[in-house]
Amino acid sequence: LSSKSEALIEKENKYGAHNYHPLPVVLEKGGGVFVWDVDGKKYYDFLSAYSAVNQGHCHPKIVGAMVKQAQTLTLTSRAFHNDQLGVFEEYVTKYFGFDKVLPMNTGAEAVETALKICRKWAYEVKGTPENQAQIIVCENNFHGRTTTIISFSNDENARKNFGPFTEGFIKIPYDDIDALEAALKLNSNIAGFLVEPIQGEAGVYVPSEGYLAKAKALCAAHNALFIADEVQTGIARTGRLLATCGNCSCTQGCENTPEVKPDILILGKAISGGVYPVSAVLANNEIMNVIKPGQHGSTFGGNPVAAAVAVAALEVVRDENLSENAERLGILLRKGLNDIASRNSLISLVRGKGLLNAIVINCDEESDLAWQICLKFRDYGLLAKPTHGNKIRFAPPLVITEAQIQDCLSIIEKALNDFK
Ligand code: PMP
Repeated sequence: LSSKSEALIEKENKYGAHNYHPLPVVLEKGGGVFVWDVDGKKYYDFLSAYSAVNQGHCHPKIVGAMVKQAQTLTLTSRAFHNDQLGVFEEYVTKYFGFDKVLPMNTGAEAVETALKICRKWAYEVKGTPENQAQIIVCENNFHGRTTTIISFSNDENARKNFGPFTEGFIKIPYDDIDALEAALKLNSNIAGFLVEPIQGEAGVYVPSEGYLAKAKALCAAHNALFIADEVQTGIARTGRLLATCGNCSCTQGCENTPEVKPDILILGKAISGGVYPVSAVLANNEIMNVIKPGQHGSTFGGNPVAAAVAVAALEVVRDENLSENAERLGILLRKGLNDIASRNSLISLVRGKGLLNAIVINCDEESDLAWQICLKFRDYGLLAKPTHGNKIRFAPPLVITEAQIQDCLSIIEKALNDFK
């Protein structure tokens, strides 16, 4: 590391809370699939800020929309109307095929919003007795960091000494349809099932074919809401506009596969292309109309800059065919990684969908080998991050090209060969 990088890292360590463990690299510039550090070294970004920068870094159309709006009107709060909000709301609801949207800022806030809507729907529409609503969640989930959300996490490190927690959650194994059915049958107070279509933080765990459709059907049969957290999987990341779009060829919404259309859809991250914090919860009238004035909100939610940025970011997804690109290059990336695995036994498994992928390293979960490998990737000009001691996620911006994927595969193989 250069002395410049070291000094900047030291500043963070001295004055910032130690709530993260970043890879030692200090970035100062981004463009498309690339980022540059403070010494001018260029890297492929193979994380995309956990799948937020799907449209590529500093996309000129999105940044342009932000700058234009920032010079006009930035924040009114929802005390007043603003001229961008309705435009965004119409655009985003039509884009994803829902009646209504509730705009927030971060993924965790949107998850909290969805949980509140789900509970309120249970009491006011389903007829659940007061304070009895239960929500089913999955083991190894990641939905954010608020106290309610960590109440149903099974990451002990994320939970330890943060209690007491929020009640009303039932945890079942992921990708286990029988467990879901048993939980739904447990009592009549199940309000909903919150699920990640692919578990990202758990190490890019892709459920079996048909799991989501079956889960949706079971929820419908038990009058429980199917709540999809697509904060990481949404916005073209998995080769479809949404991961809940299943295998239909639709790239502009999930109308064609109503059996997996969520009752509540949670979006964040790439809905703004990583340019500005924007998240959103979508649902149809019967569900969203349970929320009345004064019952939920945020000063920044739905602000004019967020609204303008999100519309531009979603336009880019369509204009640049990012779903198709993610699907095609995801296949190429996994094939290349499997080829490397056939020559280097360090990779024990390659998995993923579209451009949300992971390699599993032949070592145990507590090892620091994945970390060491990521340091080596960095030295060779590619930035990725382990999800565990033995798993590394690969999630480049979706604007990446075939030639760039090949280049990255060479870097990955070269780095892994250093550990042979
Ligand atoms: N849900 C999922 C599925 C996520 O992957 C994340 C972030 N990794 C979140 C929610 C939380 O989003 P945020 O960090 O914006 O609060």
